[in-house]
Amino acid sequence: MAEFLRDDIKDLKPYKVHNIPYKIKLDANESPYDLPDAIRQQLAKELMEGCGFNRYPDSDATALREAISRYCGVSPDEVMVGVGSDELIRVTISAFVGKGDVVLCPSPSFAMYGIFTRIAGGIPVDVPLDDNFNYDMDAFYKAIEQHKPKLVFVCSPNNPTGNVIDKADLMNLIKNFNGVVVVDEAYGEFCEESIVSQSVNYPNVLVLKTFSKAFGLAGLRIGYMIGNRRLVEEVYAVKPPYNINSFSQRVAQLVLENVDVFRIRIATIVNERERLYHRLSAVKGVEVYPSKANFLLIKVDDGEMVYKKLKEQGILVRNFPSDPRLKSHLRITVGIRQDNDTFVEALKCILEG
Ligand code: PMP
Repeated sequence: MAEFLRDDIKDLKPYKVHNIPYKIKLDANESPYDLPDAIRQQLAKELMEGCGFNRYPDSDATALREAISRYCGVSPDEVMVGVGSDELIRVTISAFVGKGDVVLCPSPSFAMYGIFTRIAGGIPVDVPLDDNFNYDMDAFYKAIEQHKPKLVFVCSPNNPTGNVIDKADLMNLIKNFNGVVVVDEAYGEFCEESIVSQSVNYPNVLVLKTFSKAFGLAGLRIGYMIGNRRLVEEVYAVKPPYNINSFSQRVAQLVLENVDVFRIRIATIVNERERLYHRLSAVKGVEVYPSKANFLLIKVDDGEMVYKKLKEQGILVRNFPSDPRLKSHLRITVGIRQDNDTFVEALKCILEG
C-alpha cells in the first residue's frame, strides 16, 4: 500500500487511549463528580423547549466568552474558546510556529506540546526539570540562548509532577523572552496561583485553562485561552470556525453561573489530595511528591508491576513506560474518598504483602 504520510512525521505514534474495563478510574485527572442536578434539570428544560441543533453554533462563543471574562476579570476580547485546551495548544502552535522553528517544552510534562509542534513542522526541544522535578530556570535561559525558540511552554501545576513554577521566575521569563510564552494552567483551580490577571498586560503571554478538570466537563471538550487582545486576535486567524458545539457552550455558561458549587467541589478535592498524600507517605516503598493539582505522582520500585497488579483489580492509574525518568513512577488522580482509600489499601497489599 502507498504511504502518503509526510516523511517528517512518519515515526509519530497515534495518541492511543486504551479502553480498559475498570472499577475505579484514577488515570486521566478527571473530576470524580458529574454535573450538579440543578444544571441537569435546567438543561433538560431548555432542551425540551427546543435546542436549535439544526443551526451552526455561535462561532465566537460570544455568551460563553462574556461569562468567562466576568469570571476571570478580563475583557471578552482577551478570551478565546477551544475544543479543550488541546485545540488551543494546536492552534497556538500553528499561529506562531513554522517549519524548522523551535519550541521549548518542559520535561517531563504534557506530551501534546511536542506532538503538535512536530505536526506543525517545528522542532520540540525538551528542557529537563531538575532532579526533584522543579523548574530549572537556568536550563530554560540556556536553551533560549542556544535554540532561539519561537515559543516556550510552561505547565503549572505541571502534569504529571504536580509542582508549580515560582511566580517571580515565570514573570521574569515572560519579560526577558523575545517570543511567546504559553502558560498551561489546566490544573490552576487546585492551587492558589494564577497569572491570568497579569497576562493581559504583556504582549507575549497566553494562559490556557480548561473546563475538563475542576469543572468536570472533560466529556464536552471546552478549554479557553486568556491573553493580550492583540495576541489573542493573532491566534484567531487560525481558529477553525464553529469549533465549540452549541450544547457545550451552554453547559459551560451554566457551570459559571453555578460556580459556587464547583468551588466547594474543588476544596473537597484539595482536602482529599492532602489526606491521600499523607496516607501514601505512610506506605512502605512509596515516595510521594507534593502536588498543587488534582493528582499525585508517586515513585515505587517496580512501577510496571504495581500498575499491572492494580489494573488486574480494576484500579486504573497512569504509568509512563516510554519516559526513562518516569519508569518507576505512577500518577494517581484524586478521586472520591472511598475510591482513594480502596486504591491505598490495594497498593499496601501489593507492596507490603
Ligand atoms: N494541558 C494539560 C497539562 C493537561 O494535563 C491536559 C489534559 N490531560 C490538557 C492540557 C488538555 O485538556 P483538555 O483538552 O481536556 O482541556
